[in-house]
Amino acid sequence: MSGVVLDDGALVPAYARQPVQFVRGQGASLWDADGVEYLDLQTGLAVTSVGHSHPAVVEAIRAQAAQLIHVGNLFRATAPGAELAQRLASSSLGGRVHFANSGTEANEAAIKMARKAKRGGNVVSVHRGFHGRTYGSLSATPQEAKQAPFAPLVPGFFAVAPTVEALTAAIDDACAAVILEPIQGESGVYVLDDAVLRAAREACDRVGAALIFDEVQVGLGRTGKLWAYEHTGVVPDLMTVAKALGGGLPIGAVVTNERFAEGFEAGDHGSTFAGGPVPCAAGVAVFDIVSDPALLARVRERGERLRHQLAELPGVVEVRGRGFILAAELDPSRAEPATALIGRALRDERLVLNATGPTTLRFLPPLTITDAELDDALARIARLLDPQVSA
Ligand SMILES: *Cc1c(COP(=O)(O)O)cnc(C)c1O
Repeated sequence: MSGVVLDDGALVPAYARQPVQFVRGQGASLWDADGVEYLDLQTGLAVTSVGHSHPAVVEAIRAQAAQLIHVGNLFRATAPGAELAQRLASSSLGGRVHFANSGTEANEAAIKMARKAKRGGNVVSVHRGFHGRTYGSLSATPQEAKQAPFAPLVPGFFAVAPTVEALTAAIDDACAAVILEPIQGESGVYVLDDAVLRAAREACDRVGAALIFDEVQVGLGRTGKLWAYEHTGVVPDLMTVAKALGGGLPIGAVVTNERFAEGFEAGDHGSTFAGGPVPCAAGVAVFDIVSDPALLARVRERGERLRHQLAELPGVVEVRGRGFILAAELDPSRAEPATALIGRALRDERLVLNATGPTTLRFLPPLTITDAELDDALARIARLLDPQVSA
């Protein structure tokens, strides 16, 4: 459809890729090789939360890359790693941090910590959950299409409905960990009830299991609070973070409470690249932007407004989410599936959107998006959903 710099046919076709090749990004905008500008409400799936190529992130990466790119984990953590760990731990669970390179690896580490503490045991997740694609995380991701081709999975993983009754019954003495997303992102932005999170907390305390919150998508300001669990009154033992953390560079982290602060000892678990100085320097820059109370208040306010505006659009039957993670559920009788609509959004409206399924649009705008850009985005979405146009 647009200018292509280089054919990408040498890649294994593991993704359903839209026919556009981006060459540049700035703030909420992306450009293709022909210089056509797109408005980005997908942010690489909650990754570029501070916008594309934020100057503070670019400068942090540039300065650190010029000074030291890698030394590995056989020496004291470099200053950016030490600094980022302090910020993550002191802003949340108060324990310590173990770095990884992605969300799925952060979850692997959290699951291993929980099993080690309990000397084995089961891992309980909930229906519609998503925790990643490596074997432990995949085993905690009860979705047939993602799991079935890769059986057998890791033993000792069970999934139940995200209800008080089901969780209370499933969490017994044999349970090492419960892993939950406070808001289920990949499956279509389902906010778990506070009562469900409370029941999981109480049952974990009763049997000595670890409560793991996967904040890979919803952490770091996405919901209008720094951490999504702050909306709920329930505090986990372990929290996993990734996506937005490196401003686009690959990094993940497990944050622990005091109880799990020595959850691994030397030799237990590791990764060559994890906690590298360049992604950590980017992480410090990102953290300092998204932890600003004024930015967080604005995400809450504008998110609430966007939520109401989306609910008024034709064909929208429900809006779910918090802050800047929202899903619009479309009337299933619409002729055009959401998955086709996002192709038309790209082609006709130069709008980068995401669909989590045939009736669900997901919105993940940059937290730094301007009011004018938000108004512009909404006008484009309104045109897309106009039955006169889409008929
Ligand atoms: C994206 C995501 C993951 C996996 O992260 P990767 O970096 O792709 O491995 C895990 N959990 C949640 C909630 C996610 O949204």
